[in-house]
Amino acid sequence: MRELKRVYREECENEVQADGSIGARCWLCGQPVNYDEHGREDSFELDHYYPASTHPEHYEDPSNFKPSHSSCNRERGNKAPRPGLGVLSRNWLE
Ligand SMILES: [Zn+2]
Repeated sequence: MRELKRVYREECENEVQADGSIGARCWLCGQPVNYDEHGREDSFELDHYYPASTHPEHYEDPSNFKPSHSSCNRERGNKAPRPGLGVLSRNWLE
């Protein structure tokens, strides 16, 4: 899992956005993520679309990974994502 996380973080960090900026945004609030520093409110944290507590079988499934702020991730806890936030592709995790 540690290696999966590292690779995913790197992918997010280098992802080019529609507006030309680099770095995937938080899928919960849509704001840019701080990839340079660890342990801050706006630092990158790997979130799971389906929480590990309810879907342990998807815990190490990269298609279940989402970039988030550590504060947003904490706030969300194991709740389903708030409606209207984030754009979800239809066919993922089939
Ligand atoms: Zn956020």
